[in-house]
Amino acid sequence: MLEGQVVKLDRGFPLVKTETGEELRCKHATALVKGEKVRAVIGDRVLLDVPRGHDKAIISEILPRKTEFVRKDPTERALPQVLAANFDRVIIAQPLADVNMRRLERELVLAHETGASVAVILTKADLAESDSDIERIAGEVNDLVGPDDEVLVVSAGEPGSIESVRSLVAPGTTTVLIGKSGVGKSSLVNLLVGDHVQETAEVREVDGKGRHTTVSREMIEIPGGGRVVDMPGVRGLGLWDAESGIEAAFSDIEELAEKCKFRDCHHEGEPGCAVRRAVQDGGLAQSRLDSYHALRSETAEIKERREEAE
Ligand code: GDP
Ligand code: ZN
Repeated sequence: MLEGQVVKLDRGFPLVKTETGEELRCKHATALVKGEKVRAVIGDRVLLDVPRGHDKAIISEILPRKTEFVRKDPTERALPQVLAANFDRVIIAQPLADVNMRRLERELVLAHETGASVAVILTKADLAESDSDIERIAGEVNDLVGPDDEVLVVSAGEPGSIESVRSLVAPGTTTVLIGKSGVGKSSLVNLLVGDHVQETAEVREVDGKGRHTTVSREMIEIPGGGRVVDMPGVRGLGLWDAESGIEAAFSDIEELAEKCKFRDCHHEGEPGCAVRRAVQDGGLAQSRLDSYHALRSETAEIKERREEAE
């Protein structure tokens, strides 16, 4: 019995890297987990059997996942789909000069829902009008994200800025990179990899509606660093069922809310409100509180509509 990690899906079939660095192709895309067929995904830690006389391995067990990146179908017709597993950090990439705060707040919820650490990388800083613009935008993003979420500013032509990303992808860790196509994710990964550029073959799959979607590529090894999974264009950033994600993304506000005088405090001017007090003291940005309110009421509306439909 060998142990390894799924580092690539080749037409759905896992390629597993074992602890000795050997790469083995698997015969099946699924394995039985507690009697149920489960599809192995990038990042899965698996136990393998290589039957005598065969060149392909068989996954005998998918080990419990530490973290999961799940794509849910907003229409709820398709089952949620796990896109990657066992990563330590989610990095959200957005173009600095064209940052979309409403998209970012959704990406933050999605990223925090996985249970991993979260960082935001503002890319293409060279396209900003001035240094003071960079500072202002980075400041606004810093206000929006949680106290533990790192924000980095990078530019592909600025080697120093890429070095700051290196500390996020430390040896032994796995990072999932998300963000709209064109924001500069692959440029960033290529710079991290340097001369050892690896082919990033896209893996395409047909989804339930017959559309081709890029499900995942492969795990890319950063020389002297960890592994990175570039997750192109994750569709479905809607907020159905995102309550747990919002709780995780805004855990600081949830914690403050426990100190409010009223249990059902809406933090909208009630006396003894610990959340408003934090805004007044400068510990919590008004924009972050606004974002929390907006996302909460959006999910509440969705939930109400769904309950009416049932
Ligand atoms: P991805 O789709 O997120 O992987 O984005 P790419 O890495 O393919 O980059 C999309 C385009 O943006 C390419 O034409 C890159 O050359 C360009 N690009 C990437 N990084 C930078 C940057 O820091 N500054 C500028 N000006 N362009 C960049
Ligand atoms: Zn309150």
